[in-house]
Amino acid sequence: MSCPPAELQKKNDELHQKWQAYSASPRFELFVEFAVCLSSFSDFLQANGLSGLKQMSHRLEQRVLTLFDEADQQPVPAATLTDLCHQMEELGARVELFIGSNARPIEQRREPDAAGSASGLSLSPTHRVWFVSNSASQWRALMTQLEYFSIAAEIYRWQGLPTEADEPAILLLDMQDETLPQACEQILALRKRFSASKLIAHTSQTAFNQLKEMLRSGCDFCFAQSTPEAVILARIIDLCSNEEEPPYRVLVVEDSLTASMSIQRTLKQNGMDSLAVTKPAEILDGLRRFEPDLILMDMYMPDCTGVEATRVIRQHAEFLSTPVIYLSGDGDMALQVDALRLGGEYFLTKPFNPVFLNAVVKSKIERYRALRRSMHNDGLTGLLNHRTVKERLAAAVIAANSSSSPLAVAMIDIDYFKTVNDSYGHPMGDQVLQSLAWLLKRRVRKTDLVGRYGGEEFLVILPGSDTNQAFEVLDRIRRDFSFIKYPFKDTWFETTFSAGVAQFPSTSDPEALIKQADEALYEAKQGGRNCIITRG
Ligand code: GH3
Ligand code: MG
Ligand code: MG
Ligand code: MG
Repeated sequence: MSCPPAELQKKNDELHQKWQAYSASPRFELFVEFAVCLSSFSDFLQANGLSGLKQMSHRLEQRVLTLFDEADQQPVPAATLTDLCHQMEELGARVELFIGSNARPIEQRREPDAAGSASGLSLSPTHRVWFVSNSASQWRALMTQLEYFSIAAEIYRWQGLPTEADEPAILLLDMQDETLPQACEQILALRKRFSASKLIAHTSQTAFNQLKEMLRSGCDFCFAQSTPEAVILARIIDLCSNEEEPPYRVLVVEDSLTASMSIQRTLKQNGMDSLAVTKPAEILDGLRRFEPDLILMDMYMPDCTGVEATRVIRQHAEFLSTPVIYLSGDGDMALQVDALRLGGEYFLTKPFNPVFLNAVVKSKIERYRALRRSMHNDGLTGLLNHRTVKERLAAAVIAANSSSSPLAVAMIDIDYFKTVNDSYGHPMGDQVLQSLAWLLKRRVRKTDLVGRYGGEEFLVILPGSDTNQAFEVLDRIRRDFSFIKYPFKDTWFETTFSAGVAQFPSTSDPEALIKQADEALYEAKQGGRNCIITRG
């Protein structure tokens, strides 16, 4: 898995220390610390795709939270303590077992491999998917497709799952012939055995209660039997993509140093970065410097209410949509109405439950980032959209200029794409666009930028690379793209792309770079397509 075992071990140790501290001395502050740590542990498991462990940890977290706010539950009664202790041991044992059997992490690869594999693709698998089915032929086409995205697929019969193997990223369970109780029983058994894998059921049981039962048994996702293969493919690739997100960033505006330190501590425990300002006058500077995803705003500060501070912030167009959560001591209705009118997202009443603070802040930031993504990314491919990729190019050229380093720009265009649409239909054309997008994203470095420039045109920006280096990377992608076989009815088809590459500093203006890459692309098309021409 992509989760480093050492990091998981550290998180696990930390959780057990908090639990031991509380068990030794059952004071409420220690219970709160344990609950915060457990909540952060669940988030960590979720972020790293450790689905089975996450489900276990989440169940325990839910239990702990029910004991949180009820005064009569503290200190926790002896019987409950024993029960929690038992669950902690069980979780710990499962985590240790997982670490023991996954000491060799499969890292997500970005740099392409020089050596080619048997299929002719210059990719080595970064994830494994197991198909569990008694009818192998049904899954052949999908399994071949996955290989093009460097996902290794293996098929096993229900009775023939290997007992001594590392966990695959995903198990796709063919449950078309199972009754609901049989399916749930199988899922429960697999959930016990696979701590990290995602379990996807392919099932005929799609009524509300059937889905509820299957999810409850530990399934992560259910596909109806009639789901098109392209949709299953897209889902599997998405699950394997686990894009690393930069940590969430929170600006804490709070005049009490003690309160802001305690908030910052909670945020840090939950993997978020924060900056605290104690004077309202420092807010704008903090926003510009720190570029937070969210503001936690104290309602009462000397000479200024939180609402007034927000009003000042909203005068600046760039901070119009930054979410604000207010921290207030009481329920002043008039002030709260005012705050909501200014786009206040939520009120947290002091003293607040740190687990709740974490959950509210994270969910608001998730929504804010999704909104920003929809502004900057293309809906079909998820790549940067036309406007954004051009803005990023302008910024990248300025950065290359100031660091005196090269920068390559490539314009890619799919060959005879109109024919793909005409022969196989527009949805199939969309699938081709998605495959190229996924391939490009997987195969360039994290620092490179990929955008959908137009219909079937893509712009790739490679900071620090000259045309020769860019050619090497892109030509391998070109070759691999041409190997992808798209199933259509009883046969399949292939497509290719052409590209033109220009470089900074040979050309120093962003528009001129695009124009030059475009001219090189035109030459590639004239030269017969399925090739790359470089300039500069
Ligand atoms: P060439 O090799 O010269 O590039 O030929 P071509 O057929 O690819 O070139 P052309 O520019 O004539 O065709 C581009 C086609 O891309 C036309 C348009 O219908 C199609 N297209 C643009 N956007 C989309 C999209 O989002 N989905 C699908 N399926 N097709 C699209
Ligand atoms: Mg205050
Ligand atoms: Mg075109
Ligand atoms: Mg084209």
